[in-house]
Amino acid sequence: MRKRCVVCGKDASIVIDRARVAFCNEHFIEYYERMIKRTLNKNGFNGGKVVVAVSGGKDSMALMFALNKLKNELNIKLTALHIDLGINDYSKESRDIFEKEVKKLDIDYIVVKAEDYLGVSIPEAIKFVRKPACSVCGLVKRWIMNKIAYDMNYDYVATGHNLDDISTYFMKAMFTYRSDDLIRGNEVISPPKPDLKIVGRLRPQIFLTEKENLFYCIVNGVNYIDFECPLSEGALLKKYKRIWETALNINPMSQYNFTRSILSIREKFSRDEIKLTPCKICGFPTTASDRICSFCKLRIRIKERLNKQ
Ligand code: SF4
Ligand code: ZN
Ligand code: ZN
Repeated sequence: MRKRCVVCGKDASIVIDRARVAFCNEHFIEYYERMIKRTLNKNGFNGGKVVVAVSGGKDSMALMFALNKLKNELNIKLTALHIDLGINDYSKESRDIFEKEVKKLDIDYIVVKAEDYLGVSIPEAIKFVRKPACSVCGLVKRWIMNKIAYDMNYDYVATGHNLDDISTYFMKAMFTYRSDDLIRGNEVISPPKPDLKIVGRLRPQIFLTEKENLFYCIVNGVNYIDFECPLSEGALLKKYKRIWETALNINPMSQYNFTRSILSIREKFSRDEIKLTPCKICGFPTTASDRICSFCKLRIRIKERLNKQ
């Protein structure tokens, strides 16, 4: 049966299963932007200087577009950051799309190369370590995002983590008995800690799905890279993500409720503060007892391997 927009009664163009509602394009945009604002405001966001990290994919492109549109209402000064990871055609195309969109939208932006910080590109770096590509890449991106935002004196880095990502991350943490991953990180807002050289984090799409981010790009004419990173092949998180297909068939609210349950359960725990100290090499915080952060360890290892060649 043809669905109707829950607001105006016109033919619907998208159904949001978990909320059992359908929208036309216009009212979907209203719904999507209301979700972004509500997610931030309910978690105590008062505005500030925000670097939005944009890979070129649908999630971060949707986030950049929405934050730019809502910047006055949210009281933010926005700059977009793209990190060129050096992953062949995938990175070239991602960078092109990013640059075209920021110019079209007249957003301040920065492009940096991972290689300039790491010494080598991501595909080269993963040859030197026995770790999954995404784990090396994630570590490098987090360090660079924090460094750039900190050096620019920005308050927050906003990232395009969506409901599919966060719910799967929590699921994997449970299935692999990594309870620390369940308790820490992935908050909607992590406050800045300038004394520790930590820039705050915003995850405004935590309750929006990949499907909603994709549709937001389409209805707004936002371009995005529509092929997957070649290094994501075999990523464990991607495999776990498939489990949601079954769960969502049984209960369309399952993914949303699962994520909210974990976030609310951990609010009730009194969490021990993690002990952070400045890294001896880069000065950014680390939990390592030898006071050398994972990013600097990676740099050292790469240098050693390069010298041996
Ligand atoms: Fe990096 Fe993995 Fe994302 Fe590719 S899929 S860009 S390797 S985190
Ligand atoms: Zn409508
Ligand atoms: Zn370091």
